Amino acid sequence: MNKKKKILDIFVYSLMFILVFGFLLYAGRFNAFGKFMGGMEFKTFDIRQNLILPHKKNNKDIVIIAVDDPSYEYITENFGTWPVPRSFWAKLINGLEKASPEFIAFDLLFTKRLGALDEGDLKLIEAVKNNNNVYLSMNFDNYPPQIRLAPELPDGLEINVKNGEIIKNSPLLHFSNCRKAMDELLAVTSNFGFINVTRDDDGIIRYIAPMFYYKDAYYPNLTTAIALKYLNINPRDIYVKNNIIHMGAKYKIPLNPDGRATINWYGKEGTFEHIGLWQVDDAINRNDIAFLKEKFENKVIYIGTTVTALADIKSTPVSFMYPGVETHATFLNNILDNSFITHASFKVDITIALVLCVLIGFCILKLESVPYSVLCSLAIVVLYLIITVIAMEYFNLWLGIVLPLFSATLIFIAAYITKYLLKSKDYEHTYKLAVTDGLTEMYNHRYFQEQMIMNVGNVSRYGGSFSLILIDIDFFKKFNDKHGHQSGDAVLRQVAQTIKKNIRTSDIPCRYGGEEMAIILTNTKKDDAVTTAKKVWSAIRERKFELADGNWANVTISVGVAAMPDNGNNPQELIEFADKCLYKAKQNGRDQVVSEI
Ligand code: GH3
Ligand code: MG
Ligand code: MG
Repeated sequence: MNKKKKILDIFVYSLMFILVFGFLLYAGRFNAFGKFMGGMEFKTFDIRQNLILPHKKNNKDIVIIAVDDPSYEYITENFGTWPVPRSFWAKLINGLEKASPEFIAFDLLFTKRLGALDEGDLKLIEAVKNNNNVYLSMNFDNYPPQIRLAPELPDGLEINVKNGEIIKNSPLLHFSNCRKAMDELLAVTSNFGFINVTRDDDGIIRYIAPMFYYKDAYYPNLTTAIALKYLNINPRDIYVKNNIIHMGAKYKIPLNPDGRATINWYGKEGTFEHIGLWQVDDAINRNDIAFLKEKFENKVIYIGTTVTALADIKSTPVSFMYPGVETHATFLNNILDNSFITHASFKVDITIALVLCVLIGFCILKLESVPYSVLCSLAIVVLYLIITVIAMEYFNLWLGIVLPLFSATLIFIAAYITKYLLKSKDYEHTYKLAVTDGLTEMYNHRYFQEQMIMNVGNVSRYGGSFSLILIDIDFFKKFNDKHGHQSGDAVLRQVAQTIKKNIRTSDIPCRYGGEEMAIILTNTKKDDAVTTAKKVWSAIRERKFELADGNWANVTISVGVAAMPDNGNNPQELIEFADKCLYKAKQNGRDQVVSEI
C-alpha cells in the first residue's frame, strides 16, 4: 500500500513537472513573453555587472580626449561654432605625435565636403598621411539609393574572416549603404574602422559588433582594427569557430547568435582617464611636451565627444550617461583582457532550471514543516544567485537567472498545491479507514451509532421519518462449526455485498457486530423500510454463497424493522424495538422479516 502510494506521489509530481515545463516551452513561443523574460534577464545582467564592478581594473594605457563641456565652450569661444575647422584636428594630431602615442583614434566622422576642399581639409589629409597610427571612423547604414548611392569602399579596408557566416547572416550587421569618409582621406590611409552601435529594447548598450558585412566583404569595428594592429595580428589570421572570433592564437571574442559580443564593463562614466580637448590644445599651443608625454606617451588615445549637446551619449548597465567614445575604450579593454562575457546557451539555462526545480521539489517533498521548506528553497535560490555572480566575475559567464528562477517559483507553487492535494487525499483515506469495517467493508459500529444520533436529531428537528433494519444470520454458529471459520467470513462478506446491492445509495449499511448487520434508511417510512428488508431477505435466501473450499451453500437471515417516529424517538428505543422484532423472528422459526411486536 505504502509503495503504491509512493509511486502515485512520484507520478503526480512528475506530471506537475511536465506541466510546468510544457507551459514554459509553450509560453516561450510567444514573442511578448520572450521579450518580457529577456528584458528581466537584462536587468539581472546589469545588477551583476554593478556588483562585480569594484573588483575590476581598467587598462591605464587607454585614455580619452574628450570634447567635454568646457572644451565645447572653449571651441565656441575661439571658433564661433562646432564643428571646428579641420586644421584644428591637423594641429592636434601633429601636437600629440610629439608625445609618441600608440594610436590616435577618432570617434568623429570626417565626411565629404560639398564644395572644394578648404585649407583645413588639406592640413588634416597631410597629418593623417604622415602618421600611420591615426585611425578614422565611418558608419554603415541602410539608406535607400534615392538618398545616397551605396558607395564602393577602397581595397585594404576590409578584413579577411574565415567562417564569418554568423556576421554575414546577421541582419544587425549586414548593411546595404555606408556613410563614407572623405575620398581624399581614404586615398592616404587604410586605417579605418566602423563605429555603429546597437541598443537593446530598453535603450541600453550591452553588445558591440566586432565586425560588419558590406558588399561581399567584412569590415572591422574601429576598435577591432586598432586591436589587430596593436596586438600585431595578421588580419588573415582571423577566423570564426563555434561562435568565437579567434584573433591570432591568444585573443578571442565570443559572439552571440546575432554576431555581436557582450561587453564586460569596467566602470561608470569617467573610468578611463578623460583629458579635456581644450587642455590638450592649450598644451600644444604652449608646446608643453612634458604634459603631453605624461598623458599620452605610448597610450591608445580615443578622441570623442562627451558633451550632452553633441548627442553621442548612451546608457549602459553601469551608467545612464556614457559617452560613445568610452564604449570603444571598454571594447578595446575587453579585447586586451580577453574578458568578454559569454552567454550560457539556452540548453544550459534549461538544465539549471531543471536542477533547481528538482532540488526545490525535493525540499518541499521531504521537509514536513512549511517554514523549513520555504527556507530551504530560498537557500537554494540564493546559492544559485551567488553562483551566477561568481560565474560572471571569475569566468565571464552570464548564467541565466530569470528562466531558472521563474520555473523554480512555478515549481514551488505547484509542489505546494500537489502536496496539499495529496495530503487531503491521504486524509480521506484515513477517515475511510476509521469508519469502515475491514472484513465486510460496511460502516463500523461507531459510525452506526453516530448516524443513529444524527438521524434521530434530523427527524426530531425537521420532522419526517427514518428507519432501521437489523439483520442476524440464522444458525451461524452451526454454519461455522460445519464449514469452518474461513467460510463463515466469506459468507459475511457476500452477505454484505448482497445487502449493498439491494439498498439505495442514501442508505447506510453497517456491521452491527459479529454476524449482525444494520441498515439505516434515511428519510424512509416504515412501509418502505419493510419492503427493503424483504428485498434483502429474499435476495439472501435466493442466492448461493461460495465457501473457502470452493463449495457453495445457502444461508438465511432473520430481520427486524423499526422506524422513527412509529417505534421510538431515540436510538436506544429504536434499536430495542428492532432487536425485539428480530427476537420474534427467531422465535417464529427464523428466515423471516418481522416489523411489529
Ligand atoms: P441464531 O440463528 O439464533 O442467530 O443462531 P446463531 O448460531 O447465529 O447464534 P448467534 O447469532 O448468537 O451466533 C453468533 C455466531 O456468529 C457466533 C460466531 O461463531 C459467529 N460469528 C460472529 N462473528 C463472526 C465473524 O466475524 N466471523 C465468523 N466466521 N463467524 C462469526
Ligand atoms: Mg447473533
Ligand atoms: Mg445468528
